[in-house]
Amino acid sequence: MITSQVVLKKGREKSVLNRHPWIFSGSIERVEGDPTDGDVVDVWDNRARFVARGIINQNSQITIRILTWDQNQLIGEGFWRGRLERAISVRESLAADPLTDAYRLVHSEADGLPGLIVDRYGPWLVVQFLSLATETNKATIISHLADLTAPQGIFNRSEDTVREKEGLVPVTGPIWGEVPPDLVEINENGFRFLVDIKMGQKTGFYLDQRENRKIAGSYFGGAEVLNAFVYSGAFAVYAAAGGATRIINVDTSEAILKLAERNMRRNGFGGREDVYAGADVFELLRTYRDYGWHFNVIVLDPPKFAASKSQVAGALRGYKDINLLGMKLLHPGGYLITFSCSGAVSPDLFQKVLFEAAVDAKRDVQIVERLGQSLDHPVLLTFPESQYLKGFICRVW
Ligand code: SAH
Repeated sequence: MITSQVVLKKGREKSVLNRHPWIFSGSIERVEGDPTDGDVVDVWDNRARFVARGIINQNSQITIRILTWDQNQLIGEGFWRGRLERAISVRESLAADPLTDAYRLVHSEADGLPGLIVDRYGPWLVVQFLSLATETNKATIISHLADLTAPQGIFNRSEDTVREKEGLVPVTGPIWGEVPPDLVEINENGFRFLVDIKMGQKTGFYLDQRENRKIAGSYFGGAEVLNAFVYSGAFAVYAAAGGATRIINVDTSEAILKLAERNMRRNGFGGREDVYAGADVFELLRTYRDYGWHFNVIVLDPPKFAASKSQVAGALRGYKDINLLGMKLLHPGGYLITFSCSGAVSPDLFQKVLFEAAVDAKRDVQIVERLGQSLDHPVLLTFPESQYLKGFICRVW
């Protein structure tokens, strides 16, 4: 029984009717029925027409997370199970791939489950409940996930700062089944990686780059490579397998570089001439420029520079800086493999930054590949925020 109703201000139903799944506090005219945060509510326009159904959180700027636009769909056990089944079923071909056993099972709004991330690492699942809507229904979600995927254990990494905006505290720890070891071994396109699912970045591994790494893999033959922003060394492994003669790996975190080196060894790429440099990429690129060093391939996969719209201008300066230096450091005909994972920076805007970098670097730059996020991180057409990762492979003359 849905007892509470939310009435929108005049005209504010438009974005909801366009199937955007968030309603901001400023769009709400009034709330009737005194709902508790986490309750299911019906949303009406100011002429008493049903618009959608979702979960309310009056503690959050995103006050309602829409779950359905169908008045006949009830939000009970069947709803959560149905959405989980749908997300799992579209990943069946990945599940059947003998070369890969780590991928995203649930990609939040884009899979109709706002604020829920589920990543699979072999027999383990890692979950993130990033909205009160999913946090309130945690027990139901976990029990259906366990039933549908039969994992060895499920680990909760609900620590992202977005939880604060939902009025939730960070939570980390085992939530179902066995406790995973500190490092879990996964397979990606036939390569093996140790993943720290308990403490590593995101849920432990950058699963969104899986397909890009495979594509990039064919550009490394005979190349001297600068691999900037290494994390656990995934691009380094593909570069070595692709025939790179020497890889200079740069990351600020020395601990992370140790894991990257272990992952290289695990794939048979120990004992090479590769370098693992604990340094700031912005500084090291300048040092190499001053030395007059050049590379055949440069990978730039930085962390998110813009977490919100207000940070976009600064982020663009950062992207331009590293890409400009990257272009200058390439031998003519070399490749720049460059990414941005800031959702607030559109692919067009990122391309514009590369344009400006090319002009200032005085280099001819050809786009040879346009990259996005792996297919298990779908983009919901009506929710542009679900597209965040974009990349280009450029040939630089
Ligand atoms: N390419 C990786 C993911 C990179 S994540 C992969 O495919 O798995 C971004 C990484 O950049 C993190 O490991 C972080 O430690 C590192 N980092 C962040 N700022 C940095 C800086 N200014 N210089 C060097 N490394 C940085």
